[in-house]
This record gives sequence, structure tokens and C-alpha cells, in this order.
Amino acid sequence: MKIHQIYTNSSLRNFTYIIELLNKNAIVIDPWNETLVNDFIYKNGLIITTIINTHEHWDHTQGNQALVNEHGCEVWAHNNGIGKIPGLSRSLKSNERINIEEGCVIEVLDTPGHCQAHLCFIVHHNEKPEYIFTGDILFNAGVGNCHGGSVSDMFDTIQEKFVNLPDDIIILPGHDYLENNLNFTLSREPTNNSAKQWLVKYKNSDVNINPLKTTMADERQINTFFRLQNSEVRQNLPTSANSDKDVFVSLRSLRDNW
Ligand SMILES: [Zn+2]
Repeated sequence: MKIHQIYTNSSLRNFTYIIELLNKNAIVIDPWNETLVNDFIYKNGLIITTIINTHEHWDHTQGNQALVNEHGCEVWAHNNGIGKIPGLSRSLKSNERINIEEGCVIEVLDTPGHCQAHLCFIVHHNEKPEYIFTGDILFNAGVGNCHGGSVSDMFDTIQEKFVNLPDDIIILPGHDYLENNLNFTLSREPTNNSAKQWLVKYKNSDVNINPLKTTMADERQINTFFRLQNSEVRQNLPTSANSDKDVFVSLRSLRDNW
């Protein structure tokens, strides 16, 4: 199993992912469009068997129909995506574990907050959780907006499904918002040296060639939404916040107007 991260160069800075299996079958996560996906799979001699959508928004599903027409592949997504996600053929269940090849399992997490049809996926390799596809829930150094969902659900999802993930799991998000998110972190916590170092790293990298990847250990350092008890973060809030949830809600609202 190999995971390819493709930057789409779109104005929303989407990522599409292709999981390449040993038998040359491929699973496409959130196809931005058919051209980009077909270019990749034909160049690499792969066969698309399955599309997985993290959620129903157009920028994560607009490649579905043309790929289904051309390859006859299945489309897997959240039950609440029925009627919204083109080609949806299998509703995935919360906590379902799907064996994609020997030693490689995808675990389905129901993750409301950004919208009500959102799933994230942990990839376990030889029983070790190695990667997590986070869609528009968790970005590098930030979390997704809650315009079509609920900030309360987002808080619960982050606390219940992400806070206890192992340090070395690699985050594979739906968009490249790393630079903006690091700047937001620094606006809340100006002394955060890890965020400063990541910003330098970002400026020296090229998302088209080799997108930077963070782990959960990194997120605990640079993502304000995992630093709810940090005294600098708390002191800089415009209103007093008593609970972690209050802090989270206040940060999300500040990020909306960032
Ligand atoms: Zn999106």
C-alpha cells in the first residue's frame, strides 16, 4: 500500500489522494476532477475500484460521476450523503473496519462538525495506525469551519476522535491551509516557536512537489485548537472562557473572521 498526495492547484487548495494497492488497484479519496485522477492512474498503470468521499461538498465529490462512468468504480461515503454524493453505492458505518489488502485496514470514524455527512479514515498498517484522512475536520495546524455544521459537534469530534490519537500518526487533510493556520496560531500565541519554525519550513517547501506532512505530535504543538489550556491562548481571548469548549468556540469564531 502506498498513499499518493496530489495537490490540485485549485483556488480552494484541495488535496486528492490515491491509495495504490500491491495488486495495482487504486482507491481515490475526494477526487477534485477526473482529469487529474486519470492522468495519474494511467501513467502508473492503476485500476480504480473505489472512490471514497470524506463528505458531500462539491470540492470533494465533483470528480465522482465522470470516474464512475469511465471505470465503473464504487463510491463509499456517509449515509447522510445519500442524494447528495454522486454515484454513492455503499454507506459506511461508524467504526467499520475494511480490509483493503493483507495487513492493511481502513477504520471509519463518524466525524460531524463541518457538516453532517463527514467521515474520517484511519489507515492501519500491520495493526499500527499510520495515517488519518481528515477531510475538512482537521487541517495541518487548524480545524475546518462549521458553516454547514455545528461548532459544538466539531469540539466533540476533536475531543473524542482526535485528542487521543498516537503521536506518530500522519495527518492527510482535505486542503492545504498550513500557512494561514500557522499565522493564526501565531496571532493567538505569538511565542509559539514550533509554529514559527513550521512557517519557515513551509516557505522553503513546494506544495506541488512535496506537500509538508504533520503528525499528531506536531499538531499538539502548532494547532491552537489542541492548545485550549495554554495560558497565552486563554489570556488573548476577547471574552472570558471558563471551559475548554468555551475556548474552542471562541477560537473558531476568531478564525472565521481571520
Ligand atoms: Zn473542502
